Amino acid sequence: AKESGRDRYEVFDKAMHQQALERLQLESDLRRALEQQEFVLHYQPIVELVTQRLVGFEALIRWQHPERGLVYPDTFIAVAEDSGLIVPMGTWVLQAVCQQLRIWQAVAGSAALTVSINLVGKQLKSPNFVTQLDAILAETGLVGECLDLEITESTLLENTESIKTSLLQLRERGLQISIDDFGTGYSSLSYLHQFPINTLKIDRTFVQQMSHGKKDDSIVQTIITLAHTLHMEVVAEGIETTEQLDRLKALNCELGQGYLFARPLDQEQADHWVNRACS
Ligand code: C2E
Ligand code: CA
Ligand code: CA
Ligand code: CA
Repeated sequence: AKESGRDRYEVFDKAMHQQALERLQLESDLRRALEQQEFVLHYQPIVELVTQRLVGFEALIRWQHPERGLVYPDTFIAVAEDSGLIVPMGTWVLQAVCQQLRIWQAVAGSAALTVSINLVGKQLKSPNFVTQLDAILAETGLVGECLDLEITESTLLENTESIKTSLLQLRERGLQISIDDFGTGYSSLSYLHQFPINTLKIDRTFVQQMSHGKKDDSIVQTIITLAHTLHMEVVAEGIETTEQLDRLKALNCELGQGYLFARPLDQEQADHWVNRACS
């Protein structure tokens, strides 16, 4: 028994070792990918539900891997975050989004278009974040109002001075702040008063529960009422069916995104949406 116990530990050690190696490998691949500019952004339309008019896009990162093809963020964001690579990666995202927005605004005159960017706490806490943002805005000639930063509840609940300071500075520059995946994180709502928040994004798990015959939309209803009471906008994520759309409209949810309208689009497809919206 003693013998097999040791064997089991050895197997366990090997698995741990293997995992650590794979992580290190991924980290160094990501570093190289940043240098080689292998990341691309896809843009998912956000629409006004009543008119289905385009109001903006959410920028979603993908990795155009030379061998593995298009790699999705769920497989690398956590490692990028742990290793700190998320900071230079986020700067790249910000830069790429602003350059794209400048083109869209110049071509289509669509000053009203906003792009939402996903941010983790490490980026907000990075001391250069706001300085870099200022430089990018100055360089592209964009106003802060056309950017919307999506932050999760857990980031806000870290509640550090540096995050609070960054958010206030962002607000001074006119940037919008959204809470991503709202309702999935924590039960404490006290932070809603402590931070300057414009928008709540209803997580798609709640939206998708609405249509499974149960007609249980009390959570969605509660979030919409809460947002409106606090003078915030609501974006429903992951709308896939007209049934969900109709119910959300009936509940006065103003904005939404999801496969029903469009999947995340590559830049060319997004161009078409902008052109169509502005013609
Ligand atoms: P998220 O911010 O919640 O993004 C929404 C995710 O839902 C996206 O997955 C999108 O493709 C997917 N989605 C949109 N509509 C539908 C729908 O109707 N049905 C279903 N089933 N899914 C839908 P994606 O692009 O794989 O991104 C995953 C997560 O990676 C994002 O979740 C976000 O947390 C993170 N992420 C993406 N880009 C960035 C980035 O540039 N920076 C950071 N820090 N995180 C990012
Ligand atoms: Ca998001
Ligand atoms: Ca989300
Ligand atoms: Ca908005």
